[in-house]
Amino acid sequence: MLNVISVDVEEYFHATNISSVIGPPSKHHLASRLEQSIEKVLNIFSRLQVRGTFFILGLVAQRFPELIKKIAAEGHEVASHGYGHELAYNLAPAQFLEDVYRTRLMLEDMIGKPVYGYRAPNFSIKEGNEWAYDKLIEAGYRYDSSCYPIWHPRYANQRRSRKPELIKRESGCLFEFPLAVGKLNVFGRELRLPLAGGAYWRLFPLPYLRWGLRRMQEEEPGWFTCYVHPWEFDPGQPVFAELSFLTKLRHYGRMKSFERKFERLLQSFEFGPLCEAGKQSFGGKFLDQSPFSDD
Ligand SMILES: [Zn+2]
Repeated sequence: MLNVISVDVEEYFHATNISSVIGPPSKHHLASRLEQSIEKVLNIFSRLQVRGTFFILGLVAQRFPELIKKIAAEGHEVASHGYGHELAYNLAPAQFLEDVYRTRLMLEDMIGKPVYGYRAPNFSIKEGNEWAYDKLIEAGYRYDSSCYPIWHPRYANQRRSRKPELIKRESGCLFEFPLAVGKLNVFGRELRLPLAGGAYWRLFPLPYLRWGLRRMQEEEPGWFTCYVHPWEFDPGQPVFAELSFLTKLRHYGRMKSFERKFERLLQSFEFGPLCEAGKQSFGGKFLDQSPFSDD
C-alpha cells in the first residue's frame, strides 16, 4: 500500500512556534527564505522519484504563484493549508470558512485543477471545533488531514481514531486522514507514539521511526500519512533568542542532519500523494463526483 508524504508549504516565520513570539506576518517584515528551501525539497523528491501532497498556505501562493505551478507541474498533488496560518480553533466559523474557501479557489485558479484536500495549521481541529468539518464541506473540500491523534499542549486528540475514516455530518461527508501514530499496550493501557513528521522526525532516532512505521503497515489499513515543512531543510534560518529552550529544540533541533535522514525515510517505504493513497484505500468512493451516495 502507498503511504503518504506531505509538505506543509509555509515560511519559517509562519510556524506557530515562531509566530507566537514574533507575531503574525502582518506585524513584521522578515525576508522570505521559502524559495531555496522548497527547491531543496523538490530536488529530493525528484532525485528519489517520489511524489507527494503539498498543503500550500494561501499567503505563500499569493506571493509565489510560479512556485505553486512548478509543484503541480512536477506531478505533486496541490492541496490547501488555509490562507493566513491562524489556528482553526481561534477563528470564528465564518472567518474559517472565508480562509479555507478563498485558498481553495486561489490554488485551483493557479493550477487549473481541482483542489480536494485541507490541513489545518498545527493540526488545530480538535474536540470543540468540529464545526470546521461543516465549513470544509461547504467550501468544497473532499478530505481533511488535520487530526494528529495524540496528546499535545495545543490539541488533545488522543481519543480520536488513528485510522482514515469517513466523517459524516449533517452538511455532508468528508474523509479524514489522521497523521501517523503508533500504539503500544503498556499494562493494559494504550500508549500512543507520534511517528508522522516535524520535530518527531528530526529528534527521534531513525530506527525507532522505521520500527513504528513498519508496525503501522502491519495493521489495518496498512498505510500511514507523514509530513514535513520546507523550513526544516533550512538550518541557516534566524534563531529567535526569546523562544524557550523547549520551543527552540522543537523548531531547530537536528535540522542540519535532517536532509539525509529524510532521504533515508523516503527510501524506507513506498510514498505517494494522499489523493492516490485514498483512492487505493477507498476505491471509487474517494474523490468521485458522488462518492457518498451508496453508504
Ligand atoms: Zn503550518
